[in-house]
Amino acid sequence: MTILLSTLNARYTHASLGLRYLRANMGELQDVTRIAEFVIGAKTTELVERILAHEPKIVGFGVYIWNVEETTKLVATLKQVAPHVVIVLGGPEVSHETNEQRIVQLADYVVTGWGDVTFPQLCRAILHGPKPLMKVHAGVQPPMADIALPYSLYTDEDIAHRTLYVEASRGCPFKCEFCLSALDKTAWPFNIDTFLGEMEALYQRGARLFKFVDRTFNLNIKTSLKIMQFFLDKLAAHPDDPVYAHFELVPDHLPDALKEGIAKFPPGALQFEIGIQSFNPEVQGHISRKQDNDKAAANIRWLCEHSHVHMHVDLIAGLPGETVESFAQGFDKLWALGPHEIQFGILKRLRGTPIIRHTDSFGLVFDPYPPYTILANRDIDFATMQRLVRFARYWDLVANSGRFTCTTPVLLGAQPFANFMAFSDWLYANTDATHRIALDRLAALVGKYLQQQGVQDAADLLARDGHGGKQKAAQSPQVAAPQRQARHLAA
Ligand code: SF4
Repeated sequence: MTILLSTLNARYTHASLGLRYLRANMGELQDVTRIAEFVIGAKTTELVERILAHEPKIVGFGVYIWNVEETTKLVATLKQVAPHVVIVLGGPEVSHETNEQRIVQLADYVVTGWGDVTFPQLCRAILHGPKPLMKVHAGVQPPMADIALPYSLYTDEDIAHRTLYVEASRGCPFKCEFCLSALDKTAWPFNIDTFLGEMEALYQRGARLFKFVDRTFNLNIKTSLKIMQFFLDKLAAHPDDPVYAHFELVPDHLPDALKEGIAKFPPGALQFEIGIQSFNPEVQGHISRKQDNDKAAANIRWLCEHSHVHMHVDLIAGLPGETVESFAQGFDKLWALGPHEIQFGILKRLRGTPIIRHTDSFGLVFDPYPPYTILANRDIDFATMQRLVRFARYWDLVANSGRFTCTTPVLLGAQPFANFMAFSDWLYANTDATHRIALDRLAALVGKYLQQQGVQDAADLLARDGHGGKQKAAQSPQVAAPQRQARHLAA
């Protein structure tokens, strides 16, 4: 074994697309390159032992916001017991503000940005000379046609048990300042026919769950329609063995041709993640996010009312200029549109993102440790931000979990944000916890709170949601995730 590609995934079910791209593009070194994926939370010394069992000369680590702390420990320990092993880092976390990071100081080399071409070149130089002079190598971006696609490297076990990440394009033309893709300035498509050929091969091998990581699926409608037709053909040919696809969309661009295609999908086949982030035009201006709010709202409503798509819509709290009141207005507006899930995120300062230009003017204070979550800003003090963080956590447990589909609308009433915030404050005061709240206990607490609010039929509502020992009623089709989606959501 000469080269080992490794990373710590957030979960076993997340198969790393980045490592597979690297291996697919190793050229003559592909045969001496292996992949060893781990999951965060493992014991560092055991990981070192398992890596060294491969007897690698070079180890390439994919470094991300969720694994940088554990990977730093891993690299430090690896260097202690096997200083002869050459460590190369890559990934978004080390691609910006590179030299000031401890993990970079511990490693031998870093490839920033795209690694498809530059990582194999660096490996050749390490193995055969001349020894690379620079520590940090800016990744070269090749023409898309020169990048070998990695999908054949998904193993049968990956296909059977893990989420298959795929991409028909890279990059994003938009410039939302909190987002790393803002630096791309454009999107680069892969050849669509070649890409769909790879999807066909995956399908023939048994793949049924495809998660597209394209930043914006609906940029080029011709391409979007071709991809959708691929899945519609599969669904028509084998309705009893359905495929399931997940896409990320911009909300204000949904031409009729796309709507027509979307409307043809049966329940349980399509999931959209749609970023709204903020409905506040002033905030959108601060973060350079161009969005037609009326069109976006109309499209979300159309999707909820006229399609079977399972809809996740993202909002971010803590953006510059967003007060609790304006966030609450956006939240209530979004809830009224009827998406299945509102993904309530708290702003994070991703390395390299332009959002930091607002640090002084909006008093942005970020946690110095990953994932660099905002702690306070000019409009939201630390204590209030903590309440929002708890709101987000409890929102996932109650509203997004799909376990309280009958109860949630009553809990939210006519003022969803204010009412859930009051519930969230009460829940925290009564549990001192945001994690490890067993479902039975949570249901009992929800019931107790509703009774305190004067809701007479709280026990009935909870029973209809399957809590309290009574038979669970059929869930509202708009809220309940079909089984295939539930499997996906658990990933
Ligand atoms: S938030 Fe979405 S639309 Fe905005 S830059 Fe990032 S990927 Fe593009």
